[in-house]
Amino acid sequence: MAGFNDVSFMPRLAVPAVCLLIAFLGYFSQVLFNNSTLDPGPLSRTESWTFNVLLVCLWISYFRAVAVDPGRYIFPDQVIEADGRWCKKCQAPKPPRAHHCRHCERCIPKMDHHCPWTKNCVSMTTFPHFLRFLVYANLSLWTLSVFLWQRFYALWEARNMPAHLGPTLTGLVSLVATGFVCSITCFVLGIMLITTLKGWVENQTTIEGWEVDRHEASIGRGRQDWWDITGPDGEPLQFEKVEFPYDIGFFANMAQAMGTSNFLLWFFPLAGNPQISKTGSGTGWTWAENGFNRKEGMWPPLDPDKFRRAVGGFGMSRRNYEDELELEDDGLTIGEHMEAFKRRQDEDLRRRKRRQDELMAELEEVDGDGSGRASYDDDDETNNSNNMRNWANSDGEYLRDYGVDEEAEEEDEDVPLAELLRRRNVGTRSYNDA
Ligand SMILES: [Zn+2]
Ligand SMILES: [Zn+2]
Repeated sequence: MAGFNDVSFMPRLAVPAVCLLIAFLGYFSQVLFNNSTLDPGPLSRTESWTFNVLLVCLWISYFRAVAVDPGRYIFPDQVIEADGRWCKKCQAPKPPRAHHCRHCERCIPKMDHHCPWTKNCVSMTTFPHFLRFLVYANLSLWTLSVFLWQRFYALWEARNMPAHLGPTLTGLVSLVATGFVCSITCFVLGIMLITTLKGWVENQTTIEGWEVDRHEASIGRGRQDWWDITGPDGEPLQFEKVEFPYDIGFFANMAQAMGTSNFLLWFFPLAGNPQISKTGSGTGWTWAENGFNRKEGMWPPLDPDKFRRAVGGFGMSRRNYEDELELEDDGLTIGEHMEAFKRRQDEDLRRRKRRQDELMAELEEVDGDGSGRASYDDDDETNNSNNMRNWANSDGEYLRDYGVDEEAEEEDEDVPLAELLRRRNVGTRSYNDA
């Protein structure tokens, strides 16, 4: 559903469309039941009350999911060690679990995804409202399904009666139309509810779920718990298996997301939401970990493909970087490594240039202008090959489909592998503002 963010009419029409859908299923259906010749007649008092109370809860939670601010980091005076992550768009440290949203245009605390249907980020602050919205939407839909079912069943029961004694054609068409829209909405929102409940109980955002998949895929390629690269200090580097650290027990997970351990408030539509601490630490800045990793702050695990890009191996010359990384254990000094990378980079550059020249010659379009583009600069690749550069999950979803600004996410993009290795070894947490 996240992919809808890029549909052109989405920004303007999504929220009105959702309101229209709620109005149609919630109120048109009641008009139909109460004023048509459909058996078993109008809704009872209890049915009517139940349905309308659910609808009020639904409107309130939807309004808040749309209107509540998804959160903003305001940095106090002191320098914050935001776990070494840096957002080059915000020009500020990026605390754990935050991502830069390309729609909200800032770093969002515990960003889950940017929801096209609420035109808002599902984040640390909006998650409770989003979850309540899904819960009340599904409860309302199930209630409506029961009402509809009763009427379809009455029709079936009366199948041997003369047609002119039955409901009017308008009543029948309206019933079928409502049933059709209700089933589709039920199906889609049911899936959304299940995935959101799962994320809530496991304390895992949609984006983190994607990161888990990517990590498993890269570990799968390495076929073991860490890849065989060791730094000069003998410590395994970068590609070790990292456990998802924020699952701290299901009750604590749920309480953390809802901002209170008073579970009676979890589904109260007017209940609040977690607030970012103003001190620069605590809620929104740091997150409790379960201690399954050898140290804290290891999430998200590094994307091995970043290394491929870091050594300049992307594009026409794909290299086997697993082999290449195994060379790291050969006792060369950092200087020698850097020289080797430089050499390979030059080779790549020459190869690409040669290829480009050949193409140009073939097309007989050598005009002396295009040749300068056969360089290593990224500009000619950024747009059309963005998808090729990044990992997609089994549903074909890239991080950008959740609203994440991938460019802002790639803070280490231009750092060569040797530099990354050196930094890890030195253990500095300096920010790179490249
Ligand atoms: Zn940012
Ligand atoms: Zn957003």
